[in-house]
Amino acid sequence: SITIEGTLTPPQAGASVTIQVREVGGSWSTLTSVTTDQEGRFTYSWTPQAEGSFELRAVWSGDPYTLACESSVSSLEVEAAPPLFTTEVLIGIAAACCVAVAGAAVYLKKRPKKPKPHALRVTASPTEVYADGQSTSTITVELVDSKGKPLQSEEDREIALSATSGSIASTIVMKKGESSATATLTASTDIGVSRVTASSKGLKSGEVTVTFKEKKRYCMHCGERMPLDAKVCPSCGRAPPSGVDVKVCPNCGAIIPEVAKFCRDCGARQPESSS
Ligand SMILES: [Zn+2]
Ligand SMILES: [Zn+2]
Repeated sequence: SITIEGTLTPPQAGASVTIQVREVGGSWSTLTSVTTDQEGRFTYSWTPQAEGSFELRAVWSGDPYTLACESSVSSLEVEAAPPLFTTEVLIGIAAACCVAVAGAAVYLKKRPKKPKPHALRVTASPTEVYADGQSTSTITVELVDSKGKPLQSEEDREIALSATSGSIASTIVMKKGESSATATLTASTDIGVSRVTASSKGLKSGEVTVTFKEKKRYCMHCGERMPLDAKVCPSCGRAPPSGVDVKVCPNCGAIIPEVAKFCRDCGARQPESSS
């Protein structure tokens, strides 16, 4: 809700002040009447029923000794807001006895300032994949404010994607209420760096780079390099071993047959098995 606070200056206790509201461009309607306290202050808590741009003013009808006067206009944006969102509008009415209306002082205070979508932040996981035409990296696009804090999208937002190498969907949609969306980048067979760019209307674009690295293969018998599509090792002539028992290469983490003497992916010599 919105707290409307105001002061009648010079202070006038027990005066009936009318608070009026209108949508910008509309006509004034009376919200409520409030009575000033000993210091001439008044306050009213208002819960707008709709989103929109509103203007508020306070009017005092005067008394036999003082002319009627009204405050200048405070404007207010009402947006769909989190439950604890509070806004304070301060209105001051300045009246001078029997003479004229002095300049009215108006203070408008809104807090907290609602963060606005500013940019897209793009991250990739992993940032290095094999240039084998089929390895993938998950590209995550986040909506952030000017401080880099993730924000929920207020609409279904279309995001255009492009990659300088490899393939990726040309558009994805960040659903209303979500703060991120993902896409899959598939590696090309060209070794090098792919720059992935995400852009959306009214936002600073974001980008990330993913490295397509050479896929190497080593003979698990002799440790020599092997072409990716070779059936047998050109050096020792043996076919790669297979088996249901596997182990993890301590050098690169690849899962390889228990009997392998060298790692298929990194070529590291494997420790002697304990059995
Ligand atoms: Zn070999
Ligand atoms: Zn390895």
